[in-house]
Amino acid sequence: MEKKNIRNLTKQEIEFEITKLGLPKFKAQQIFLWLWQANVSHFDEMKNISKAHQILLSEHFEILNTTVSIEQKSTDGTIKVGFKTYDGHTIEGVIIPSEDRITACISSQVGCSLSCTFCATGFLKRERNLFAFEIYDQVYLLNKIALHQFGVRLTNIVYMGMGEPLLNYDEVLKSIYMLNDVENGMGLGAKRITVSTSGITRNILKLANEKIKINLALSLHAPNNEKRTQVMDINKSNPIEDLLEALKTFYSKTRNKITYEYILLKGFNDSVEDAKELASLCQDFPVYVNIIEYNPVEGTPYHRTPKEARDLFLHTLRSHKVESKVRKSRGKDIDAACGQLANKVFGNQ
Ligand code: SAH
Ligand code: SF4
Repeated sequence: MEKKNIRNLTKQEIEFEITKLGLPKFKAQQIFLWLWQANVSHFDEMKNISKAHQILLSEHFEILNTTVSIEQKSTDGTIKVGFKTYDGHTIEGVIIPSEDRITACISSQVGCSLSCTFCATGFLKRERNLFAFEIYDQVYLLNKIALHQFGVRLTNIVYMGMGEPLLNYDEVLKSIYMLNDVENGMGLGAKRITVSTSGITRNILKLANEKIKINLALSLHAPNNEKRTQVMDINKSNPIEDLLEALKTFYSKTRNKITYEYILLKGFNDSVEDAKELASLCQDFPVYVNIIEYNPVEGTPYHRTPKEARDLFLHTLRSHKVESKVRKSRGKDIDAACGQLANKVFGNQ
């Protein structure tokens, strides 16, 4: 008999399954807490479940977990973590401590099906979507590391690791609800959770209508369709004007300011003209522009914009009343950019 993965079941589904096996219904709540709040990997760790029931459960279900396989600490405090999935893939997460917060960056897929030309993950094949429990596990394990290293819990979560979260919509949403769940999950506030997307219009609209109101970041990276399509193929089917419409709806439903991420690529998208054009995309709803320093990726033709041009770009945006700041690249000595760890340390698995 094939065992069911119990971590893919809701509490109601566990209730249904265990009553079929003769366990009392209320045990589902206890099992659920062992699975999510204690993150156990064996039924014999469930102390308030009788030995006989532990054995019965283990005959019908399996508990799949994600484990930490490598931890690298940068001189700037950033910690990059490689995880092994239950089926042997490598994914990655990063802990980024700053003055007022500790942010965890997590992955949503093994690899990515999109091939943005500047991104290391784009070179990896998309192997599969991650399950909600695997996304949750990354946060759980990173939180443990943060507690151990800094003595404090994670404060913020960003879906900015490997993969396109809005192309794994259902599992990403499930993971968000579990992370947010105070009673059974980690109790992380919705306002502290950000999903970053390359721009999947239909799913931005779907997200706008969810009960939970999280933050959204759009990886824009170019100020017009012509340039954006050159670096992000997904722009062909999701052009900027459609994205802006969807973001406008997202803002009207959530009242959460939208973030644009904009990597400065030397000589490509970093001129004063580009900045002016970008400013014109910030007029329809409140936007915050994160200017990102490029983390060089081997095999790409791109270079980081020099400081003077970067400052002029920022100044131009601000003079057009656009809120913006430069996000310094973190963990440079450990390849903390998107997808780089999996690529370099482990090879593509
Ligand atoms: N697929 C989603 C989320 C993962 S990528 C997205 O594209 O938004 C997270 C962010 O890292 C994106 O803004 C992405 O463009 C950026 N990024 C990718 N490669 C980078 C690099 N080499 N240097 C700096 N940022 C990079
Ligand atoms: Fe995928 Fe995002 Fe990288 Fe593009 S930037 S290849 S969408 S992970």
